[in-house]
Amino acid sequence: MGLVKAIRTFTVRPVLAPSLAPLDRLASNWRWSWSRATHALFASMDPDLWEEIGENPSRMLGALGQTRLDQLAADDRFVARVRAEDERLEAYLTGERWYQRLEGAKPAHIAYFSPEFGVDGSLPQYSGGLGILAGDHLKSSSDLGVPLTGVGLFYRAGYFRQSIGDDGWQREAYPLLDPYGLGLTLLREPDGAPIEIALDLPGARTLHARVWIADIGRIPLLLLDSETPSNTEELRRVTDRLYGGGGEHRLLQELLLGVGGVRAVRAFSAATGRPAPDVFHTNEGHAGFQGLERMSEFITADGLSFGEALAQVRASTVFTTHTPVAAGIDRFPRDLIASFLTSGLFRGLDPVRALELGLESYEGGDPGVFNMAVLGLHLGQHANGVSLLHGEVSRGMFGQLWPGVDTDEVPITSITNGVHGPTWIHPAIKALSERAFGDAYATEHDWSDARVVSDEELWGVRGAMKDELVAEARRRMTASVSATGSGVVPSWVQNLLDPDVLTIGFARRVPTYKRLTLMLRDPERLTKLLTDPERPVQIVVGGKSHPADDSGKILIQQLVRFSQGKEVRGRIVFLPNYDITLAKILYPGCDVWLNNPLRPLEACGTSGMKAALNGALNLSILDGWWDEWYDGENGWAIPTADTASNDEERDDAEAAALYDLIEHQLVPTFYEREGGIPKRWLGMVRHTMTELGKKATSDRMVRDYVTRLYVPAAEHDVALRADGFAEAKELAAFVARVRAAWPKVHIENVDSSGIPQQAQAGDVLEVRAAVRLDGLAADDVAVELAYGRTDENDALAHDRVVHRLRPAGPALDGVTTFTGTLPLTVTGTFGYSVRAVPTHPLLVSPVELGLVTYAS
Ligand SMILES: *Cc1c(COP(=O)(O)O)cnc(C)c1O
Repeated sequence: MGLVKAIRTFTVRPVLAPSLAPLDRLASNWRWSWSRATHALFASMDPDLWEEIGENPSRMLGALGQTRLDQLAADDRFVARVRAEDERLEAYLTGERWYQRLEGAKPAHIAYFSPEFGVDGSLPQYSGGLGILAGDHLKSSSDLGVPLTGVGLFYRAGYFRQSIGDDGWQREAYPLLDPYGLGLTLLREPDGAPIEIALDLPGARTLHARVWIADIGRIPLLLLDSETPSNTEELRRVTDRLYGGGGEHRLLQELLLGVGGVRAVRAFSAATGRPAPDVFHTNEGHAGFQGLERMSEFITADGLSFGEALAQVRASTVFTTHTPVAAGIDRFPRDLIASFLTSGLFRGLDPVRALELGLESYEGGDPGVFNMAVLGLHLGQHANGVSLLHGEVSRGMFGQLWPGVDTDEVPITSITNGVHGPTWIHPAIKALSERAFGDAYATEHDWSDARVVSDEELWGVRGAMKDELVAEARRRMTASVSATGSGVVPSWVQNLLDPDVLTIGFARRVPTYKRLTLMLRDPERLTKLLTDPERPVQIVVGGKSHPADDSGKILIQQLVRFSQGKEVRGRIVFLPNYDITLAKILYPGCDVWLNNPLRPLEACGTSGMKAALNGALNLSILDGWWDEWYDGENGWAIPTADTASNDEERDDAEAAALYDLIEHQLVPTFYEREGGIPKRWLGMVRHTMTELGKKATSDRMVRDYVTRLYVPAAEHDVALRADGFAEAKELAAFVARVRAAWPKVHIENVDSSGIPQQAQAGDVLEVRAAVRLDGLAADDVAVELAYGRTDENDALAHDRVVHRLRPAGPALDGVTTFTGTLPLTVTGTFGYSVRAVPTHPLLVSPVELGLVTYAS
């Protein structure tokens, strides 16, 4: 290693001959990362160099050297490939797609904010699932033609690169990235000067940022970067690393993302003529300040009041919550936020009311804390979790924000995550799909017919992908061992793993709830499984611990140490630096993908979906997506020990169940062969690829976001904005009116004298409710009768029917009578309740204001 360290690096781009000129555009559009042909084109320019520079076309063009480029320019076949790829890219960027054919009103432009984006291994701007999901969201939006712009930060050192020392302890390195060298371009003024965003901070400081544009197919991704000469040294470090610091550093990143992000989108629209976004999507709470910035815009530019601006922002905002784990949610000291709200950063915004939007001022909350998820839910009228189960868990977790509202009515829906097929499906499966079905996407095909894809062919491809993983594991471990200690590589490392052995994969970030070391619970039992002389099992593990999380590093160390044991080494291996590049080899190369989180803390999980699309079977706790889509034939469910009295007991029970499944289900099925083929196993593989191919893709996910959240949000935005914000003003006045009156709204009595003791199905009963509206109009309030079966606690079942009662006439002495008839269709123990809620056509949910009054 050289002793002189460069303090800056930069790339000198070569001059391309006219025949090779399209390579520039092909290299700078990240579509190359999921297009096999473009990827292969760049790799073929110099396969060894391609690996060495980390598989990135822009770096490749910078590294090749003029001589080789001149050779290629004179190579007619190569030039013809360049031209063909350029034509394909052009067609991809301009053709009509799903979104253009979608009928009805739809958003003109969606701005999608996320703290991390996982697009490719050579752009390490992600730490795990949240970022990869955001990357896949952009790619599917591109494939579907959705007019979306991504907004994030450019972290100069990205997330860290992991290596493992002799002692099994995680080491972190932060290589600096050169955005030019990666093919990013700066957003510029017409005169060529870089556009800079500025944020006024307390203490008369100003945070400046430039805006990089990464083209993700048809989708621009804007990345704000504080590394500019306009900033002080201190402020240049704001975007140094992803999730690097805590406290103010983290807050500055989130202010830059939210506030700076909105300003960057405005500048981008002005520079390119893109319409202003009518929908803003906040991917997790970190970008929540975008809503406050937009309120500030409405107040200063359109003269709206705080309440009107809030109504307008809520209408057009989609908020996605991604975790039920408290540590995953950003919480800041109230006073710290207050200092930024009064610094002049948010012009025109009442700091006291703005602060209230994020305070945990509910039962069980900490009023000294400003919570970004709370802010997100207050600013986003359209909110969702990321799997059915996570939706349910989120409704419970955030229910305190809607006091008095039944958990199942809390206005948070769910859209289950998905993964981008063209990125995550291995080229070998794509090729097979192309041969058998005529297209490479490999999703939404019926893989069950052995006449279309024979057992030999499918098993052959599965085997080739395993061979690749084994070779890669040997290569990486050899490199890792030679880099530490004596540098001598023992022979067991060179012969690590066996492609014929049942291979289980497990890789993810290493927070405690994911239980990296659950498999080590009973080391003897695990050793027996790994070393069975006839039918052994092997395990490939990976994962990064957050640099500040020593408890995660201890888990990694335990695993590494176990894997070095004489008896088991070679059969269990920890591969360092789990990232997109490793993941693309790891998922297809495993027979089984394991996931054993503490239920229900895994909001969704997506690695198992990527494995499934490549024909791996899942072995998982019924959490996240697996709880929804496990069907008995696509893998195995590890039973959850819900009745365990403590964590230790629970881990023991779940680990025992895991070993049992491996020993009694996986091993026999995998090793049962007919003519060398595991028929039953392959049947499960075919079933997995067919069934999960229909559901587990981010194309399905993005279509769901468009139809269920973006279209309604855009409709609300338009409705509120029309005629000089007439409806926004009306809605804000309504909200103020009902909030003021609500404490006195009271259901005086419910007259159900018509109900006999012995009711019979078919009877029709009349219900009359006398409600004191305290000055509200009868049509400001919906008086609802809910009826259905009751349980032993007299609680109404979830399938209850809700029926709206109508005012019977004008108020008498301040009391309005509402009536309705109730046909008794449900038999058995039956009950009803009456409640009053505010009602307005532009509310998404009847309980979204958190105002509900029940009859007692
Ligand atoms: C998909 C992916 C993840 C997320 O997987 P989970 O199942 O949610 O843990 C994390 N890291 C990488 C590199 C991935 O590709």
